[in-house]
Amino acid sequence: MSVMWDMPDFDGHEAVHFFHDVETGLSAIIALHSTHLGPGAGGTRFWHYENRETAVTDALRLSRGMSFKNAMAGLPLGGGKAVILADRNRKKSPEMLAAFGRMIDSLNGCYVTAEDVGISTADMVEVSKQTQYVSGLPVSEQGDAGGDPGPFTAMGVYLGVKAAVKHKLGRDNLDGVHVAIQGVGSVGGGLARLLAKDGAKLSIADIDKDHATRLATEIGASVVGLDDIMRIEADVFSPNALGAILDKVSIAHLNVPIVAGGANNQLATPEDGQRIFDRNILFAPDYVINSGGIINVGLEYLGNSSVDEVNRRIEMIPDRLTEIWEESASSKLPSAEVADNMACKLIGR
Ligand code: NAD
Repeated sequence: MSVMWDMPDFDGHEAVHFFHDVETGLSAIIALHSTHLGPGAGGTRFWHYENRETAVTDALRLSRGMSFKNAMAGLPLGGGKAVILADRNRKKSPEMLAAFGRMIDSLNGCYVTAEDVGISTADMVEVSKQTQYVSGLPVSEQGDAGGDPGPFTAMGVYLGVKAAVKHKLGRDNLDGVHVAIQGVGSVGGGLARLLAKDGAKLSIADIDKDHATRLATEIGASVVGLDDIMRIEADVFSPNALGAILDKVSIAHLNVPIVAGGANNQLATPEDGQRIFDRNILFAPDYVINSGGIINVGLEYLGNSSVDEVNRRIEMIPDRLTEIWEESASSKLPSAEVADNMACKLIGR
């Protein structure tokens, strides 16, 4: 492995901690990209990595993404991320999660964690027995911020899609607007239900075909093939499944004026932001449109916040996107680059 500072994804990260617990065999990395705005906040990913270098790369990339996301969401939080290197021979256990909690605690609040891929709310409860620097726990009082971030992310994406339709198509409502949704899980499914209420025409695709069919019946959508969803003629393509789906080939086949969805890291490379821009497709930078969940989890951690305050902040997502699109049009820079520049300024880079 090359020295971390020389790795392509190293971007002035303030610290990268490597932990190992002999008793449970737990290996974890906690990367802190920036604490300029507050403690580095971002979820813990539990994943089987092909090799250790991939795990470091993931921690570097994801923590940088969290710096940008938290800054653009207006939260007093920096960017951090933890990855636990899953081992085929060892299962996640309460002891392992306890050891992980102690690792977080040893950083004295420089890093605050929550759920990510492979980690559940129940896991976070185990971690929280060892450290106070945890969010994404079950809500204790009705009306408090916190709990499952999915519906809040879906709401932000829905408002973002509406803003994109207004900005690009000059339409104030979604009646008859055709949205193609890739992935109808927590975020995409929530989005589909909200759009259906507004009379949008929906095409959906999901690798879980039974789930897609059930949802389509419930809300009156059409199920399309996994390969077709990115190519069909529609007003909006909304990615809500995987990252890195927008590349040279897929962008060339897009048949929509707008791409706006909740999936993280949609652009395969920075050049793909330019490719979308060159095709005159309006792109909603993912970490701006999908910040509803972190607003909910972030306010939970910061305390004394209500669902009303979470919703008030989520309602600011459309204005933030519109500012980015206007700046993109006047500067002739891709919206993804404009958002990165704004985020860098906010974190003092
Ligand atoms: P999820 O697991 O609930 O849903 C993802 C859905 O995508 C599943 O139904 C899955 O079957 C489907 N899928 C997977 N591969 C697919 C493919 N190739 N084609 C079509 N469908 C496919 O996850 P989620 O919480 O809804 O998150 C979706 C995306 O949004 C992820 O990229 C996630 O990182 C991002 N995101 C989620 C949140 C949140 O609050 N949950 C917040 C920010 C970003």
